[in-house]
Amino acid sequence: MADPTPRVVVIGSSNTDMTVRVPSLPGAGQTVLGRDFLVSAGGKGANQAVAARRAGAEVAFVTAVGDDDFGRRSLDGYRGEGIDVSFAKTVPGVASGVALIFVSEDGENLIGVASGANLELSPADIDALPDDLFRAGDVLLAGLEIPIPTAIRALRRGKQAGMTAILNPAPAPSLTEAEVGYLLAEADVITPNRIEAIMLAGVRPGEKPGPNALAAGLLAMGPRSVVITLGAEGCLIVHEGESLAVPSPKVQAVDAVGAGDAFNGILAVGLAEGLSLADAARRAVKGAALAVTRPGAQPALPTRSEIDAFP
Ligand code: ATP
Repeated sequence: MADPTPRVVVIGSSNTDMTVRVPSLPGAGQTVLGRDFLVSAGGKGANQAVAARRAGAEVAFVTAVGDDDFGRRSLDGYRGEGIDVSFAKTVPGVASGVALIFVSEDGENLIGVASGANLELSPADIDALPDDLFRAGDVLLAGLEIPIPTAIRALRRGKQAGMTAILNPAPAPSLTEAEVGYLLAEADVITPNRIEAIMLAGVRPGEKPGPNALAAGLLAMGPRSVVITLGAEGCLIVHEGESLAVPSPKVQAVDAVGAGDAFNGILAVGLAEGLSLADAARRAVKGAALAVTRPGAQPALPTRSEIDAFP
């Protein structure tokens, strides 16, 4: 009998998030007095791995941490979630990734990341992963808080093994035209937010294409499907010539950090289960909406039963 367990391989970053809640985000040179301070596991890759695990998949997380307390605690935390980190790399003499995050009362955020060990995850590390890891998986999810050549190699290996390769092109780094070309050629599905879509599509200053025009431009660059996340509005999916707006449920946003990661992890599980892109996106907007109603990134990620119970 076929094994129905959805299997997701996430290749991406692991950080420790240090979050300060402030009345409003500080501007350059400004000090803003806040009250609460939260230390939690984060990093886009890690958040996506946890989101996928809580949404019901078996998850293998390939990442790199430093040989320090932050790194050890992060790996312990992922193991505690039931995530396979046997292919995670510990880099001696390099600090684990750290993100400094401000969150305002209206849920906006400002983030600076010290990538540390995340930058040590190399294409050679991806080459060294066993074939079985990819062959056993349904969906490969890669992000861009790791070196770009590593993300390209990860997508390629996933695709060659018959997995659906999702690229979450976040954060929006300044990519060369060649890097954009390789990334979009290797990905089956890309999931940029609006800003990332504008950067990938090479929109010139002064031009203001809407999401449909952006998606059409990106589709022409290689992927089979484009999903543009649109914050509180939900997302736009474009697939096989059809475009569909998937609205988000209305919620009281407390902290939008990790909303995109929740969306991506849950979308990956839906696709790994064999849902259509539209149905996977409908589930992902519910899960991401739940995540923005709670503080923190990983602590906010919903379980499958919470997503299914959400109206
Ligand atoms: P982040 O960087 O905050 O993790 P992002 O910029 O990558 O997020 P967004 O498009 O802002 O991506 O959000 C991703 C998804 O999260 C949206 O498609 C939507 O489903 C959900 N979401 C984000 N903000 C809200 C909100 N205020 N209310 C409901 N859902 C939201």
